[in-house]
Amino acid sequence: MAFYYRMDKLLTFPSGLVKYMFQSSFEQIWETLDKNHVILITDENIFRYYKPLFKDHKTLLVNPGEGAKEISTIERLSKELVSLEATRKTILVGVGGGVITDITGFLASVYMRGISFGFVPTTLLGMVDAAAGGKNGVNLGFNKNMLGTINQPDFILYDTSFLSTLSDDEWSNGFAEIIKYACIFDEALYNELHKNSITTYKNDGDALAMLIERCVDWKNKTVMEDEHEKGVRKLLNFGHTAAHAIEQLYEIPHGKAVGIGMIIASMISVSVTGLEKSITEDIKRLLSLYHLPVKFKFDPKRAMELLRMDKKRNEQLMDYILLDKPGKATVHSLPFEVIENALNAYESEN
Ligand code: ADP
Ligand code: ZN
Repeated sequence: MAFYYRMDKLLTFPSGLVKYMFQSSFEQIWETLDKNHVILITDENIFRYYKPLFKDHKTLLVNPGEGAKEISTIERLSKELVSLEATRKTILVGVGGGVITDITGFLASVYMRGISFGFVPTTLLGMVDAAAGGKNGVNLGFNKNMLGTINQPDFILYDTSFLSTLSDDEWSNGFAEIIKYACIFDEALYNELHKNSITTYKNDGDALAMLIERCVDWKNKTVMEDEHEKGVRKLLNFGHTAAHAIEQLYEIPHGKAVGIGMIIASMISVSVTGLEKSITEDIKRLLSLYHLPVKFKFDPKRAMELLRMDKKRNEQLMDYILLDKPGKATVHSLPFEVIENALNAYESEN
């Protein structure tokens, strides 16, 4: 049996220092923060599930779901901060999934030109991905994360007991990002995931905690090297190029779209990097194991139109993250035609 010891990690990023508090409990935030200076931000679902945690603390509420990630929410919350007489000494703490950490980070970065903030991610996706890395943004209509900042929180506290109320769908969404880290960085994890399942990690708190920390470590190693995504951080977009187009066209959860995006990227890899053909099937098996769809009907033509408008566009070529093998990814500049062929090939297989 594995023994897991709690250890805080203090990490230095170009834009700031972050204390990562793994294996912690929510209440520990009050050991270091003055309750009079903290304003919590959460969504209505989390507030309902965990009411006692918010009792006697100033709390701002947001509607659950991606729809709240809009500039109008930032405006409303800013006004509420003014009403609560929030000052430069105020610390905003976002308690929630990716939507809440994005909103909190953005709001804290612009309120009075920037105040302190921290995160307590409550979804698996938030823990392994959204809360880490320092990107905070809101959507502008259909354009995802169009307005945002790169600014690190002061701390991120991990309390996996929040996951006890997470829906099965949300567990799967988190695993899409975990599979992503395995594919791009970590062959041993890739093999481990094949042997396990969501139930394995749900039933083994130490294994889950180690899995989360391992993914966060991969992300941080990458972000410390390249916070502004000029180079190596691009690798974290594996599966995300096609996923973003699909998400803009259809209301499908991020993790599911990323899963489909990873299949498409691995199909392109077979012809460009020489990835073994069997790996595409292998990735599909892995996605199914974690209850993520491998088939999805979408319009390749419309997806392609969106990709051409994508912010990462560079004339007729586009950066695309491909796999050399499980655990090793590389950035390639691909002609649009190659991507279009892959979207059509995926579509005709389904
Ligand atoms: P993410 O981007 O991390 O998937 P969201 O912020 O969109 O997360 O949250 C997804 C959904 O899960 C929302 O409806 C939110 O209210 C809900 N949620 C977040 N954390 C929990 C939790 N610990 N238990 C139950 N539901 C949760
Ligand atoms: Zn993602």
